[in-house]
Amino acid sequence: MHASQTKTSSGSETFDVIVVGVGAVGSAACYHLARRGVRVLGLERFAIPHAQGGSHGYSRQTKIAPYIGSPYEPIILRAYELWRELVAESGQPDIMVTTGFLDLHRDRTFPGYQKNAGHFEDLNWSQLHDRYPQFQLPKHYWGAYDPAGALLRPELAITTHVRLAIQHGAEIHGSTEVLSWSADQGGVTVTTDRGTFSADRIVFSAGPWTGKLLKELGIACTATRMSFGWVWPLRNVKAYEPESMPSWCLTDDDGIYYGFPMMTDVPGYKIGLHWYGEPVDPDAFDRKPNAHD
Ligand SMILES: Cc1cc2nc3c(=O)[nH]c(=O)nc-3n(C[C@H](O)[C@H](O)[C@H](O)COP(=O)(O)OP(=O)(O)OC[C@H]3O[C@@H](n4cnc5c(N)ncnc54)[C@H](O)[C@@H]3O)c2cc1C
Repeated sequence: MHASQTKTSSGSETFDVIVVGVGAVGSAACYHLARRGVRVLGLERFAIPHAQGGSHGYSRQTKIAPYIGSPYEPIILRAYELWRELVAESGQPDIMVTTGFLDLHRDRTFPGYQKNAGHFEDLNWSQLHDRYPQFQLPKHYWGAYDPAGALLRPELAITTHVRLAIQHGAEIHGSTEVLSWSADQGGVTVTTDRGTFSADRIVFSAGPWTGKLLKELGIACTATRMSFGWVWPLRNVKAYEPESMPSWCLTDDDGIYYGFPMMTDVPGYKIGLHWYGEPVDPDAFDRKPNAHD
């Protein structure tokens, strides 16, 4: 038990804040709360990290250029600041690797890039063809290259946030499933498969399971199935390494295809399709690749 936490008369341990779900969001919440001196308990039903939720797969993209001049501008700039702080505090430069980001669209007037000249390089088809021969694009395609684009490593971000949260005094329990919760004017009580805990406040960061946990509040959240995979290039492997290839997205009628340069975490070149996805029960769906994938 942490020195500053207490037991209630009913025997449950009590905290300032309970964070339900320790994925990308919950781990960051635990870290930032603990860093401010808040007595925080993070509860995670699986191992930390794991591959069942929304934060696995070794890479995520981030970029600045599309958001400049939009309501997201202060959010993305602050996010970059926080990632850099995390890298500095943890000494883990691999959390955020600048790869550049290439946004490929069917014409030049794609959204988000009208007001932010100076934050990206505008590339026509022949410039794209010369610089990135890995892509065989139809001639009406354009690209916007954001040199600030980066690859984030979600599992490493989670473990680092958790490690630092614990060092700042947080308590984090893996393999502890929140079965139910209740709130009244005195605070919240959370029942898990490993005991009951109380707090003044609760943070729900349960990712795809949020709809199940917040059913009583009438908040509808639908989980959908998303797939990605790693493939091995048939030729010219070097062209897919970070020196030659940025992270990228390509928008077309199916949704947004995306990919990453080949990193050392997993053999191969990661590619996926971001679309609405099929609605699923996050506790019961087929996780194996299928013909549509
Ligand atoms: C395929 C894919 C690609 C993506 N690409 C990008 C990208 O390139 N750039 C980007 O910015 N974002 C991207 N995202 C979005 C981003 O990765 C997610 O929004 C983020 O990782 C979700 O984190 P989370 O903590 O909300 O959810 P999760 O990581 O799912 O965490 C929720 C946690 O809550 C736990 N939990 C649930 N219920 C309970 C319970 N009852 N008791 C205890 N614990 C519980 C779960 O086990 C889980 O660990 C992508 C998402 C996906 C799926």
